[in-house]
Amino acid sequence: MADSQLSADYVIVGSGIVGAMLGAKLARSGASVLMLEAGGASDRGVFVARFRNASRRGDWMTPYPSIPSAPHPIYRPDDNGYLVQAGPYPYPAEYVRQVGGTSWHWAAHAWRNLPNDFRIRSLYGVGVDWPFDYDDLEPYYQEAEEIMGVGGSTETGSPRSKPFPMETVAEPYAMARVRERLAGTYKVLANTVARNSRSFDGRPPCGGANNCQPICPIDAQYHGGIAVQQALKAGVKLQIHANVFQLEHDAQGRIVAANYYDVDKNVHRVTGKTFIVAANGIESPRLLLLSKSDKFKRGLANEYDQVGRHLMDHPSTSLSFDADEDVWLGRGPQSPSSINHMRDGAFRGEHAPYRLDFTNISRVDGATNALLKAGVYGQEFADKLRHAAAREMNVKTVLEVLPHPDNRIDLADEKDSMGIPKPRAHYHIDDYTFKGHKRGQQDFAKIAELMGGSNLRYSKDTDFANNQHICGTLSMGADRKLSVCDPYGRAWDHENLFLASTGVLPTSATCNSTLNAIAVALRTGAHIIAGNGGPAMLPRSHTLDKA
Ligand SMILES: Cc1cc2nc3c(=O)[nH]c(=O)nc-3n(C[C@H](O)[C@H](O)[C@H](O)COP(=O)(O)OP(=O)(O)OC[C@H]3O[C@@H](n4cnc5c(N)ncnc54)[C@H](O)[C@@H]3O)c2cc1C
Ligand code: SF4
Repeated sequence: MADSQLSADYVIVGSGIVGAMLGAKLARSGASVLMLEAGGASDRGVFVARFRNASRRGDWMTPYPSIPSAPHPIYRPDDNGYLVQAGPYPYPAEYVRQVGGTSWHWAAHAWRNLPNDFRIRSLYGVGVDWPFDYDDLEPYYQEAEEIMGVGGSTETGSPRSKPFPMETVAEPYAMARVRERLAGTYKVLANTVARNSRSFDGRPPCGGANNCQPICPIDAQYHGGIAVQQALKAGVKLQIHANVFQLEHDAQGRIVAANYYDVDKNVHRVTGKTFIVAANGIESPRLLLLSKSDKFKRGLANEYDQVGRHLMDHPSTSLSFDADEDVWLGRGPQSPSSINHMRDGAFRGEHAPYRLDFTNISRVDGATNALLKAGVYGQEFADKLRHAAAREMNVKTVLEVLPHPDNRIDLADEKDSMGIPKPRAHYHIDDYTFKGHKRGQQDFAKIAELMGGSNLRYSKDTDFANNQHICGTLSMGADRKLSVCDPYGRAWDHENLFLASTGVLPTSATCNSTLNAIAVALRTGAHIIAGNGGPAMLPRSHTLDKA
């Protein structure tokens, strides 16, 4: 049934951090903006309470249960089967479908790529080049950082036209010891994060409680929930419990409506002049594939079968060891420091680059569970727990994955609780990434040696942890046969359809993806506001290969 009241100049599917920040920018330009959100309202107090009362503290999804009207993947205690795994390697993506999206429980890493990350095909003969350079994105990195309150080291290799808007949070003791003991061999730098070191934008400074994932209890980190509040303040309208299952088009291929289910599976139709899909790197390609029609038999934006392909992440392997001194992980933020020397170089022709990231997550919960499971009690328990809490350390690789067409999201035969085909992941780890992991193990060994490490526990060669950075599935490019959208995020096949997501990133590089996606989306916003795709549609400025 049609719901004629719902209409706007810009209709955005998804109220995650990327869609909300783009929505706010469009609304500030004077346009009417409506965000359609599959999930329900979110409340920090509720999330904190759920986490505090959780029996599985190590499971970061505990504050964010899946709901039948907008299900999302859950893996513990059991896989809920929502994201179907076609293999050969698992891609256990975690994301959250509710107002504000997944970044409610992120670590707030907000990295810029390196300039060479945009040209790995030209420089190293691997992957693809982006359709623009670092310099094109630089003003939008800065714009995003100023909204989010980002701070970090200036030595990570990403040039800046202006200073960081935020000073870094005080270095935790453990990270100071790592920095001091590795000096001369490795430079340990403060991570680039959207975390307050002072009051900023009505939110307090970090109190060091080490709870950043799955929820900062005091909102010292920026996240999608805050982005939504800012969007609403800018005039964006939000419709919750609007699970969009289809985009409709006219004879010319322009999008005319988004159809959604509410919680009772009533159908609502929303019209608009321009549509932006910002439903994350898995749900966005799923929606495009679901919207197939007689005219677009493979789904929308999919003339050349590119939607959902080139799925990437930043797989991690790791080393845990015991330092020869007490460092007491767990004071300050969970993920404060890293080593950046292997993010770029001629070796990228041969193997994956990586960052080396140190965890500062308290070991008490994990060690307690492990000791109880092993049946250790009494004084031995107390001694071993103290030892683990004081001395255990962990360092991980954050590896680049190259874009492969056969790593992809498509539709499964099975249906979800709303009767909509589930998303399915096809994924493998190639030699390029594997060789990068083996090179990373040399750094692991050296780091452990410099920390006087004992009891070294390497992750298995077959065990690559997912970092939840879902890239590539909506890749932007200069060639419509090899990409889903043009350099401004406009779907090649649909004049008034834009994509805003980590999915549009054509390569993954070595840093968490969200700031890159936000900067790209703000660049898309500037392009739209300049008259390319707004209510008064101008002819396309990109006519690369009309074949
Ligand atoms: C534990 C964890 C830690 C992370 N840490 C970091 C980090 O430190 N740094 C970093 O860069 N990234 C991190 N990430 C990844 C980061 O959270 C995502 O990259 C980011 O949230 C992507 O933003 P988005 O707006 O594209 O998607 P999302 O945040 O997933 O938001 C998408 C929105 O679309 C809605 N939606 C989905 N389908 C539909 C539909 N059909 N109809 C209507 N609405 C729909 C969803 O409900 C959701 O609100 C982390 C992720 C996890 C899980
Ligand atoms: S340490 Fe993490 S959880 Fe604690 S206040 Fe700082 S950002 Fe929030």
